[in-house]
Amino acid sequence: MKLTVVGCSGSFPSAESACSSYLVEADGFRLLLDMGNGALGELQRHCGLYDLDAIFLSHLHADHCIDMCAYFVARYYRHDGGRCDPIPVYGPEGTEHRLTTAYADTPTASSMSEVFDFHTVKPSTFEVGPFTVHTERVAHPVEAYGIRVEHGGKSLTYSGDTGTTPALDELARDTDLFLCEAAFTHGKEDIPDLHLNGREAGETAARAGARRLVLTHIPPWTDPQANLTDARAVFDGPVELAAPRVSYDI
Ligand SMILES: [Zn+2]
Ligand SMILES: [Zn+2]
Repeated sequence: MKLTVVGCSGSFPSAESACSSYLVEADGFRLLLDMGNGALGELQRHCGLYDLDAIFLSHLHADHCIDMCAYFVARYYRHDGGRCDPIPVYGPEGTEHRLTTAYADTPTASSMSEVFDFHTVKPSTFEVGPFTVHTERVAHPVEAYGIRVEHGGKSLTYSGDTGTTPALDELARDTDLFLCEAAFTHGKEDIPDLHLNGREAGETAARAGARRLVLTHIPPWTDPQANLTDARAVFDGPVELAAPRVSYDI
């Protein structure tokens, strides 16, 4: 399984990175986790516009899904005059309506479903191509999911956006790579059920027994080095900061 960071900026894009988007590949299958602001442009560095096989949206905050509107244009109004077949899109309840509204209901209220095959995510286990996927509700002001992707005896766990929650500890149990958000700064922002700070991400990784921790979703106004230091203080395994265009073999 190969993970590539397409975009990792938290909440809004930075000069260096698009918002949340992660490409997971195995056996020639491409699963994209989230498609935040700017992700569609960056994605084209890594694969063709029509090379995705499935998309998972952790939640419907714009920094995780808004480039789906741009991707709709690319699939619906193809340059060659054709229209792409629908690909599976896994998202929370109301994903189709939300994206359709964001795109201003044109050309019709059902146009999105002509190029996207929407599936409503619940806490569950299901197959996506060659992957076995587990989803869990996490602690965020809107319905939000963390996801564990398994393939060939290895696993990747992505937190999505969340505060501290036992559900995430379980989802990341013994995972090989834990891609965990760390949007807040320890000692500075303390709002429950919204985001983790670096220390909490490290503590979650330690409780879960994760083998490797990659901190992501750090907003441009947050000091990433402080979060890295805070995570390393409480987690013994390798910790690093996510960066665009970096890949991991899992
Ligand atoms: Zn976010
Ligand atoms: Zn969010």
